[in-house]
Amino acid sequence: MEVYKFGGASVRNGENIRQLGQILASAPRPLVVVVSAMGKTTNALERIVDAYFFHNRDWQEELNALKNYHFTVARELFNENNKVLAHLEGLFSSLEAILTTQPSMNYDYDYDRIVHFGELLSTTIISHYLNDIGIKNTWLDARSVIKTDSNYRQANIDWDITGQLIKQKIDFRDTDLYITQGFIASDHNGQPVTLGREGSDFSAAIFAWALEASKLTVWKDVDGIYSADPKYYPEARRFDRLSYRETT
Ligand code: ASP
Ligand code: MG
Repeated sequence: MEVYKFGGASVRNGENIRQLGQILASAPRPLVVVVSAMGKTTNALERIVDAYFFHNRDWQEELNALKNYHFTVARELFNENNKVLAHLEGLFSSLEAILTTQPSMNYDYDYDRIVHFGELLSTTIISHYLNDIGIKNTWLDARSVIKTDSNYRQANIDWDITGQLIKQKIDFRDTDLYITQGFIASDHNGQPVTLGREGSDFSAAIFAWALEASKLTVWKDVDGIYSADPKYYPEARRFDRLSYRETT
């Protein structure tokens, strides 16, 4: 089996999600696909946490913008009566329910409760979209298989339990494709946790390790390795050949 990981930039709009669909249509099976939150969603959620916890700004505006963004992408991919829209509404209501209660005394705990929604939203959209276009898949809740301690925002993996749960839940019996979240997990009380910013690659490696994957592919939104990030440096050159040494 193989593991693919798609980062936030690769799923930031409808067009990119369609491309992901094309890639998965001809991808090997069995396959586990690990996805980040769309675009800059995690940054937006961090601003929401700050506004909520420190009462220093209005989080509602920021939340509306995030909602708008996700529904705009959803409208590009689905028709108006698709059941995914109710799903997304449900996720945003759960998020809003947290934001309308008092913050806890623990910033990091509140951070994880709120920020982990980014990956739930992206994978909900993507899993529904793929099923709609005939790429049958099962949405897997990473919180139910990746188990950690309660060191919020930088949780440490419980490798024994995590390995067991991943092997148990991802048995490929009824499906040959799972769509799951990077970056998020849960502690032993079932509270959501995150694994540190940019943690999705780590999540993908955890799945690859537990399932003894033959290959882990981290998809990027550029067509090769460049001398610099071509988004910021238009003069960046793409390398046609690179030795293993030069890449590390
Ligand atoms: N969404 C998380 C972040 O932006 C995790 C990741 O993308 O790897 O940090
Ligand atoms: Mg990333």
